[in-house]
Amino acid sequence: MLEVVPVKSFKDNYVWTLRKAMHAAVVDPGEAQPVLDYLAREKLELAAILATHHHPDHVGGIAQLLQKYRVPVYGPRNEPIATLTHPVSEGDTVTIAALGVSFLVLDIPGHTRAHIAYYGAGALFCGDTLFACGCGRLFEGTAEQMFKSLGKLRALPDDTKVYCGHEYTLANIGFARNVEPQNAALAARENRDRRLSEAGKPTLPSTMREEKATNPFLRCTEPAVVESVNKYLGTRVSDPVRVFPAIREWKNRS
Ligand SMILES: [Zn+2]
Repeated sequence: MLEVVPVKSFKDNYVWTLRKAMHAAVVDPGEAQPVLDYLAREKLELAAILATHHHPDHVGGIAQLLQKYRVPVYGPRNEPIATLTHPVSEGDTVTIAALGVSFLVLDIPGHTRAHIAYYGAGALFCGDTLFACGCGRLFEGTAEQMFKSLGKLRALPDDTKVYCGHEYTLANIGFARNVEPQNAALAARENRDRRLSEAGKPTLPSTMREEKATNPFLRCTEPAVVESVNKYLGTRVSDPVRVFPAIREWKNRS
């Protein structure tokens, strides 16, 4: 089975490191040193680099990694990442032979113009699009694009493990509790993730099942969410395409 390990980077980024036997691949290495240290300590050989989008805290370490390891670099076809060797987009497959694993590429624009996700082996690497109990900010895309992208991810199997780019979970849960104070699954999640956090452990990965039960951005048709959004807006909306941007704006202001 594929093992996935979080290598911490910057303040709250994770470089997800996939490993099998002596081989490894990394997702979104924003800086090289923590990855180089981990690979050396574990005596692993890097086989591939995967990037979800062009932000420096996700791709900034690639050039330095390439100085030591001449490996393929996969990433979004339509974003400016100078270090890419294999640009990919929706429907492409990324096979990492050394790890015996393949990923399907999904286009999930919104946070950035051509953000992609990798889905395979029951795991989803979704960068800054879907977060645990939250979603990424809209820097380059529209709310409608992001809503559609999240819908695409939401349609993946419930037991899909969700590996996102940052440890934002507790803050996201705090906001989600404002949107859905009566959601028991959310309260349980807060207890568990607070304990994990206090023990210095990652709250990730989560599962799609859990995101569907607790993440307000995936719950735009839930009556309790719609009700809260209406209170926030002071008008009545029910179309999820309008509920979604209202939650996004509410979170930006909170
Ligand atoms: Zn980003």
